[in-house]
This record gives sequence, C-alpha cells and structure tokens, in this order.
Amino acid sequence: MTIKEAQQTIDEWINSTGVRYFNELTNMAMLTEEVGEVARIISRKYGEQSFKESDKKVDLADEMADVLFVLMCLANQTGVDLTEALKKNLDKKTKRDSQRHKGNEKLVERSPEPEVRNQKKKS
Ligand SMILES: [Mg+2]
Repeated sequence: MTIKEAQQTIDEWINSTGVRYFNELTNMAMLTEEVGEVARIISRKYGEQSFKESDKKVDLADEMADVLFVLMCLANQTGVDLTEALKKNLDKKTKRDSQRHKGNEKLVERSPEPEVRNQKKKS
C-alpha cells in the first residue's frame, strides 16, 4: 500500500465506518495520545522503565499504526498530500544535512561497532 492509497483507504473508512472525521483539534489531541502510547512502550522496552502486568499485551507496531492513522486523518482533513510532503521533506533534509550527521562525533561515540570506537580513541 502506498502512502496515497493509505490516505484514500482511511478517507473511505472514515466516511463509511467512522461516519465523519473528528474535528482537527480532537484529532490533534488523539495524535498526542497515540504518540504517548508509543512512548510508553519504547520507554519500557528500550528505556529503563519496567512493564506492568497490564502493559504486557501491548503491541508497538499496532500503536505506531494508530499514530499513522490519526496523522493521515489530519492530513486528509487539512488537504495535505503526504507523499508529496515526504518527498519534499526528504529533499530538504538531504540538502540541509548532507554533512551534518557525518560530522557529528556523538554519533560515532555511541556506535555499536567496537572498531569504530577504538579508532576514535586512537586519533
Ligand atoms: Mg493506540
């Protein structure tokens, strides 16, 4: 499924199963809520928080899909073509950051490859 197809599918779903879009402010609040659900899982799985018994059935992929769904709702109701927006955004980032990350020593310091870290210590 392309991004364009996903936006169309969500629009069809909203207008059949969902009746109509929640207004933009409601969807913005829901997007924040869904991002928080992703953060909760990430903090427990990759961060230092522990899972409660009630957290054990959570599904990161499903929560990420919730974020994408609400974001696409907002894009549809505000007239944003996410395919074009993402293309433009990646082009902007490529031009702006062509050397920025390669020159970031912090990224090398946290590299998981020991040989990269050792090379840095020698220099
Ligand atoms: Mg969710």
